[in-house]
Amino acid sequence: MLYFLVFYFGCIMGSFLNVVALRLPREEGLNGRSHCAHCRHVLSWPDLFPLFSYLFLRGKCRYCKQPVSSRYFLFEIIVGFLFLLVYLQVLPHNAVGFLILAKEWVLVSALLVVFVIDLKHYLIFDSVLLAAGLPVLFLNVALDYLTRQAWWSLSSLSVGGLFAGGLFAGFFYLLWWFSKGRWIGFGDVKLMLLLGVALGWPNTAAAWLLAYFLGTAYALPLLVLGKKHLSSRLPFGCFLSPAALIAMLYGPALIRWYLAILGF
Ligand SMILES: [Zn+2]
Repeated sequence: MLYFLVFYFGCIMGSFLNVVALRLPREEGLNGRSHCAHCRHVLSWPDLFPLFSYLFLRGKCRYCKQPVSSRYFLFEIIVGFLFLLVYLQVLPHNAVGFLILAKEWVLVSALLVVFVIDLKHYLIFDSVLLAAGLPVLFLNVALDYLTRQAWWSLSSLSVGGLFAGGLFAGFFYLLWWFSKGRWIGFGDVKLMLLLGVALGWPNTAAAWLLAYFLGTAYALPLLVLGKKHLSSRLPFGCFLSPAALIAMLYGPALIRWYLAILGF
């Protein structure tokens, strides 16, 4: 029952994040009511229960009977499962656990929105990065305080996070500057800063490497088949966000794997 509630909370967040990802690129406010994409009928509360409304109405609009995109339904389920997965990894039983859970849920939410928008529009919004970055910074300080972590240490969340973020964002900034924005966008630089602050050292390094692996694994077949050229743009945020998610969940295993490949 608890797991289902966590899952359903994730679905509700998924429904909200979907609205954010749809409306931000169109510069629409988040306050306007949701409406059917076909008949523009404003949806009322029985139409807005994540999962259940879709299942109950058999994927059709209640007013015009046109099919509702299954994308919303799928996205809600995926977010629900991700929220549950993070919960099961953290299994909070005290204040520290719940703060870690909050921090990871905030990061997952931001990464999902970054992924969806970057995939379609090649854009990363400052508002998304800030909406995640500020609570993450605050939670880092609170967690260091509660766990009596030495501030100056690289293993502290606050200072270690800023160090990792500064290091990797600095590297990305140089790439951006030298290539005049052709290799990566400035949005990637800012995303890297958020990832550093959220993942800390050394998980940021693990995420960064994995993003390059994912990008290469995606681009290489397309290059060979001639569908893309070396000058083609790839939305790097679409590789950074899943890489960061995997590093957040399985960072230590990922680092052991890298070291094994290098022969350590
Ligand atoms: Zn309709």
